[in-house]
Amino acid sequence: MRRGWVCALVMALVTGGIVLGQESGANKGAQEPALPYTPSLDLASMDKLADPCVNFYQYACGGWKKNNPIPADQTSWSVYGKLYQDNLEFLRGILEQAAKDKDQRSEVTRQIGDFYAACMDEAGVEKQGLTPIREYLDAVGRLRTAKDLAPLLAELQLVYGRSVVFSSGSTQDPDDSEKIIAELDQGGLGLPDRDYYTKDDAKSKETRERYVQHVAKVFVLMGENAEQARKDADTVMHMETALAKASMTRVERRDPYKRKHKMKVADLSALAPEFGWTAYYSAAKYPGFEILNVGAPEFFKEVNRQLKEEPIENWKIYLRFHVVDSASPFLSAAFVDENFDFYRKYLRGAKEQQPRWKRCVSYTDRQLGEALGQVYVAKVFSPELKASTVDMVRRIEDAMAIRIQGLDWMSPETKQQALGKLHGIRNKIGYPDKWRDYSSVAITRTDFAGNMARANHFEHRREINKIGKPLDRGEWEMSPPTVNAYYNPQMNDINFPAGVLQPPLYDAKEDAAPNYGDTGGTIGHELTHGFDDEGSQYDANGNLKNWWTKEDREKFDARTKCVEDQYAGYIVVDDIHINSKLTLGEDVADLGGEILAYLAWQDATKGQTLTAKDGLSPEQRFFIGFAQWACDNDRAEDLRVRAATDPHSPAEYRVNGVVVNMPEFAAAFACKAGSPMTKPAEKVCKVW
Ligand SMILES: [Zn+2]
Repeated sequence: MRRGWVCALVMALVTGGIVLGQESGANKGAQEPALPYTPSLDLASMDKLADPCVNFYQYACGGWKKNNPIPADQTSWSVYGKLYQDNLEFLRGILEQAAKDKDQRSEVTRQIGDFYAACMDEAGVEKQGLTPIREYLDAVGRLRTAKDLAPLLAELQLVYGRSVVFSSGSTQDPDDSEKIIAELDQGGLGLPDRDYYTKDDAKSKETRERYVQHVAKVFVLMGENAEQARKDADTVMHMETALAKASMTRVERRDPYKRKHKMKVADLSALAPEFGWTAYYSAAKYPGFEILNVGAPEFFKEVNRQLKEEPIENWKIYLRFHVVDSASPFLSAAFVDENFDFYRKYLRGAKEQQPRWKRCVSYTDRQLGEALGQVYVAKVFSPELKASTVDMVRRIEDAMAIRIQGLDWMSPETKQQALGKLHGIRNKIGYPDKWRDYSSVAITRTDFAGNMARANHFEHRREINKIGKPLDRGEWEMSPPTVNAYYNPQMNDINFPAGVLQPPLYDAKEDAAPNYGDTGGTIGHELTHGFDDEGSQYDANGNLKNWWTKEDREKFDARTKCVEDQYAGYIVVDDIHINSKLTLGEDVADLGGEILAYLAWQDATKGQTLTAKDGLSPEQRFFIGFAQWACDNDRAEDLRVRAATDPHSPAEYRVNGVVVNMPEFAAAFACKAGSPMTKPAEKVCKVW
């Protein structure tokens, strides 16, 4: 459920229950579908009139930006988003086939087919109204005292997750990654970040007012009159604001020591005595455990204060809203529309709702991803493709080993440790060795909201049931069709779903230069996460344990500070600068990744005579291939949300911010000293 400890390549494409994608008109579902092909270096995406030494992103992506306006149903548009859209079309074909009610379907095919069919049955969903969540609303209605809250929350969280007051589940013990322990963390907010509740600028105030209006509209849809609805919305806002103020910021949460507070249930009861923890854990059927980690203790003190001071009626109002708001995307049209109007239209700038089939494909991927993924992988991820990408990973890792050995600022002791960590990284490419078994999830063709709830329940239970059991290092946190990748510092593994190893990102028809620039850079990016300001605090086994000498750590910090200062100078939107303390890990990974990819590419093509193509030298093609992963168009609304929440810098800086630190780039394009895409040698940032 939670992705907090994972460093992904891009912000999740699924947001607020809804996925990026583009309406392309024709239904291709009837035919055996195929992923469309775009080369990994696309000349039409370039702007040859731009000077690469002045703005390389414009030079490599200017044509793409011009030719790819943001579709009305999208909040932004990018090479990644477009590939995801192609994937949706492709998966739609698989699902429409699977939905055909045939006797011969395998259990996996039946589950994904029926899930999709139930979601597409708009008339059936409409007829049900609030029925699918009635039992939960009734349970909230029966609350009498604060003590009754614990077992109820246990039940609601199984179905609705972290938006219900706080998040709860399991995690690897930060001191012993082989052990799975229970975990509690902050949550409970309707807006995308705690800062939305605390900032004083005009835009933040406007957003809060619009949010309260949204909450009120949800209450009206539930049958309240306008006056009562507004009053109840104010109560929700008042309680969430207090929770937000007690929540850690995203920057604070990048420090793993600030999230580490291991304790016994007795300590938890001392921290928040008003909550019935024993009743909670028993109702949620947690396995017995000794130790849990509380990510944000101050937050639970605030929950405790509210339990003591807020009337139970206010808690009921808060819970009713969160149950309905969480379920809204799966309910009747009035709820779906209100959810869209606030979360995607107002907050992120989309003009239109996505067609239903797109939402249904993405929900199937989200809820039954390793069932749908089995069919997807069989069609798009051949053993040859796996072998060639595994080879690329090996070469990038070799480049990193050479790079570590050659660092002029690091002592031999720390180098030994860094190499140990590098060699401890597990490479997971394409799809899991063992598929998740969803056979215990009851999926019917007639109950979409029920299917969603049961799949959520299954996933939450799966998390809880891991407590006390041996760690499964083969587990994935992204489904195979996902167009993204991640590094998990506690697992010390890199994960590349089959969806991200497709053209134009990885292009088996192209030569090494653009492929190493693009996918090679992505692999290097994920590897470097093991060694960024956050990941470098974990050892080879994924334990939070210092392996640095004091002097080396100081030198490392000075080097990451160079990156932090550089990115702090860039503007995201309006007058909002990049919060480079938030993006530091990603910025370090972007730079390190491309340096490693360049070295690995040279190694892979050693002894070959590389020739120019389309008037571009091999080195130029490497860098254009790199930049073209990031071509995008953005809406101001979406950029504002990302400035507050996204640990990645905007695409333009993920390209230009990297090449200014690579003398290899200046050489490839013969950039004169002093041009914007260069830096004087003494100002160049270099970490790994
Ligand atoms: Zn990353």
